[in-house]
Amino acid sequence: MAKEDLECSFCGRKKPETNLLIAGLDAHICDKCIEQAHGIVLEESKQSDNSDLSAELMLRKPQKIKSFLDEYIIGQETTKKVMSVAVYNHYKRLLQAPSDDDIEIQKSNIIMVGQTGTGKTLMAKTIAKMLNVPLAIVDATVLTEAGYVGEDVESILTRLLQAADYNLEKAEKGIVFIDEIDKIARKSDNPSITRDVSGEGVQQALLKLLEGTTVNVPPKGGRKHPDQKFIEVNTENILFIAGGAFDGIEKVISKRLNMQAVGYSASMSDERVDQANLLQYIIPKDLKDFGLIPEIIGRLPVLTYMDPLDAKTLRAILTEPKNAIIKQYKKLFEMDDIEFSITDGALDFIVDKAIEYKLGARGLRSLCEEILTDAMFEMPGSNEKELKVTKVYAEEKITKTTLKKLKAVS
Ligand code: ADP
Repeated sequence: MAKEDLECSFCGRKKPETNLLIAGLDAHICDKCIEQAHGIVLEESKQSDNSDLSAELMLRKPQKIKSFLDEYIIGQETTKKVMSVAVYNHYKRLLQAPSDDDIEIQKSNIIMVGQTGTGKTLMAKTIAKMLNVPLAIVDATVLTEAGYVGEDVESILTRLLQAADYNLEKAEKGIVFIDEIDKIARKSDNPSITRDVSGEGVQQALLKLLEGTTVNVPPKGGRKHPDQKFIEVNTENILFIAGGAFDGIEKVISKRLNMQAVGYSASMSDERVDQANLLQYIIPKDLKDFGLIPEIIGRLPVLTYMDPLDAKTLRAILTEPKNAIIKQYKKLFEMDDIEFSITDGALDFIVDKAIEYKLGARGLRSLCEEILTDAMFEMPGSNEKELKVTKVYAEEKITKTTLKKLKAVS
């Protein structure tokens, strides 16, 4: 057969009409058919990804979810337990077959209250990692009501689409972490005459998203690309996790507890109130008194709190999680064939400084960086193959000035 008579066995195009015609044993395929077939393969694998997700989720019972969280997050037992149940129920809800008993499982969106640096973001990230679903982390402070300077709430979904590589089906089962939700609390109890575009207005705008609705989302976000085609995103199965420090909410809690103690003379005085960790007594009403509107609170039905990090926890954070900071440095040095070790004394010193200068868990990393930068600069390429960080070594690298600098940026 003449070369030009060869044709694609799939679409029948003659060789001259194709860019490429690949020969098989007794058939040919052209570039166009290959592309099309490739598209089908991708589409199929996307679908099987989704059913894998469902199957995988059913295998992960709440206790398994918690064990996974334990590998990455130190302490925070209550929140880990509450999260495991909420996530499990959320995905059970996704898998629920339509039934005629009229029982519709509601969404288990979560709100976490806790000081900054106690692991709220880490919690959301770890859940998303475990489920292998896309995660968008957004800061509530940049959101404003539509039409005002700032980002519309729809931008949250743009981020989620991006995190899902624009796979709509994946995005619609993803997780959104809204940080600093406390910053959009109503500023005072009296509704003001001037419009509160970044507070209550945003809360109102968020309501629909949290509950489940279809939103037209600009895939590239913002208002800079006016002619982009909108993508319709359904938020019904997206899990929303909100987090915030709620600075000062302890006062609200304490006031309520005291009032209860007066009202029911025995109740609170029987059980001693742990003044150092008042957040553990938080109830939805406290969030309302802080300035969240009741509708928002209703759509974030799972309320949990983060414990403050004490010395023991900080110490464990340095070395125990699966990707603990110290393990990371060890690996970095290993790549240069340098054996890295750090003594207990040095680790305690780092924790002491983090506490003394109120640097929190984030400060641990900055402190390590300060201690190790010289070594990481000098040792690669030199003949030294061992680094042992002792308390004395650490003290030498961490001066008062560095500590003040770290405190200023924390
Ligand atoms: P938040 O969102 O509450 O401000 P993050 O989750 O961003 O806090 O935590 C800051 C850093 O501190 C994280 O990168 C993590 O490494 C570390 N960290 C905080 N709390 C914990 C914890 N309980 N277990 C392990 N690491 C933690």
